[in-house]
Parts: sequence; C-alpha cells; structure tokens
Amino acid sequence: MSVLIVDSPASAGHAVPPDNPEHPGRYAAVRRALQQLSGGEWIESRSATRDELERFHTPGHVERVLSACAAAEEGGWHGLDWDTHVQQSSAAAGLHAAGAALEAVDRVMAGGPRQAFCLARPPGHHAEPDRVMGFCLFNSVAIAALHALEAYGLGRVAIIDIDVHHGNGSQCLAERDERVFFSSLHQAPLYPGTGREGETGLNGNVLNLTFADNSSSALWRQRFEAEVLPVLARFRPEVILVSAGFDAHEADPLGGLNLTDADYGWVAGKIRASADEFAHSRLVSVLEGGYDCPALGRAAAAFVSGLYSAP
Ligand SMILES: [Zn+2]
Repeated sequence: MSVLIVDSPASAGHAVPPDNPEHPGRYAAVRRALQQLSGGEWIESRSATRDELERFHTPGHVERVLSACAAAEEGGWHGLDWDTHVQQSSAAAGLHAAGAALEAVDRVMAGGPRQAFCLARPPGHHAEPDRVMGFCLFNSVAIAALHALEAYGLGRVAIIDIDVHHGNGSQCLAERDERVFFSSLHQAPLYPGTGREGETGLNGNVLNLTFADNSSSALWRQRFEAEVLPVLARFRPEVILVSAGFDAHEADPLGGLNLTDADYGWVAGKIRASADEFAHSRLVSVLEGGYDCPALGRAAAAFVSGLYSAP
C-alpha cells in the first residue's frame, strides 16, 4: 500500500524577507526528495474553508491574517509579528497548508492509502487560536484534528509533535479538548519557551518531553519508546496526526539536537506500528520545521519511507 503525498503547490508562492529560514526553498527540497521515492500516490491540496479554520481559530484571527495578506503591497510584505510576514500570495499558501491536512484526513478516513504526508508550508504548530507565531499562520494539525473529531465523529485523536520546537498552538487545543492527546518532544530552553515537562493538560492528555542542547539521538529514541508510545497506546486514538518537523536533525541551524536521517525513518515506523495496532492504520503527517535544506529533504524522505511499513 502506498503513502499518500498531499502536495500544495501554493507553498512555492509564499516568499519571505531575506534571511528568513522558513523560505520556499524548503518546499522545493522536500518535493525533490519525495519525488525520488517510489510508491507514493500524489494528489494536490485543497483550500481550507473559513468554517474549518474557525473550528480552532477565532474569526478575528482568520480575518486578520487574510486581510493582512490582501493589504500587502505587490512584491512586499506585511509583518504580523517579528518573524511572521505575509504577502498577497501567502493567503493561498496558508489556506492550502491547512487544506492539505484536511484533505489528508478525508482520504485516510475514506480508506485507500491510510498514511499521508502533507507537503506544504508555512508550518502551523505555533499558531494559537487568536495569534500567529513563529512563521505559522494557521495551525494545520489542530484544524485537522478538529476535522476528524467533528466531521467524522471520532472520539479520540492524537497529535505527536517531533519538531525541535514545542508545539504551543497545538497544546492549546489539548488544553481545551480532552478528545485530543498531544505529545511534544522538543529542545529546552529554546523558542517559544513553552512546553514544560509535568504539564498534564486535561486528565493527562498532554505529555511534554524536553531535551537539553546537544542531547543524543539515542536518548531521544529511548524516551520516545519508553514514555510516548505507552501513553499513546493507553489513549487509543482513532487517527494519529504527526507534526513532522525535521529541525531536531543534527545539521539543523536552529536546533541543537542530534537526530539523523535514520532516526526519522525509525520514528515513522514506530508511529506506523501504533497506528496499525489501534488507529485503523490512519496516520496523517504534516510538514512543520526543518531549516537545512539538504538534511530536510533527506530526513523527510527517510520519514516517508518509514511510513510504508512498520519495522
Ligand atoms: Zn521547529
């Protein structure tokens, strides 16, 4: 069975100011790497609707983002916070990044390929209900989680966040909705400064694992296996969503962890095995960070390869 790649060509049109690491070259690098894999089934994303965005975001947030894009001068940028800038074409990129995750949920719920990877940017996991943050406009994975719960009537959805930064926006969802289990493995201290160990959300539906700068990939693997997988199995989600950031890679300029390409294949296999065991094999991954383009492409390809079959 193949992995579904949900591609958002609008990702290429969201240009950013010089020296911003979250640039269109990231999308191109992942796209090139995934095209070299055999066995993927490619489809294009759709645009998210306002109603779908507003399951997570406030109407004011959606309006602020879209009107800032519309107000940007031709070829110029409108700054929404210190590192989150938009231009006119950013609206389509943001709507399609969220729409890719929605489309992926629709497809895995319909059968056919049960594992999907969303090839889209900007990332989403820092976006809070009423706030853009850290390159993120709309929180694709949170919007996808609510789509699975509301449109399909599921009772439990898990979000596993392997980006090197804490998924503060996604944790906001778990803190208000106990149908969502959220687990993040991230470096601390590091941007955005949230995500302490010991935070438990509602009845234990939040699990944060923090890693000091320069922690080994062996420790990351060990803690994922010993701490995340058993709690995930107890929660028994009906679909697993992954915030697939690749900035915990040893080559990444923003993170200080030491994951290798092989670690991304390993963790994909572990999550796939969990999905097979209790989530009807349903697994939707969404591209988040990763800022060394060659390593980003290799790591994403290793991750998608790891989704093909459980180890
Ligand atoms: Zn990140």
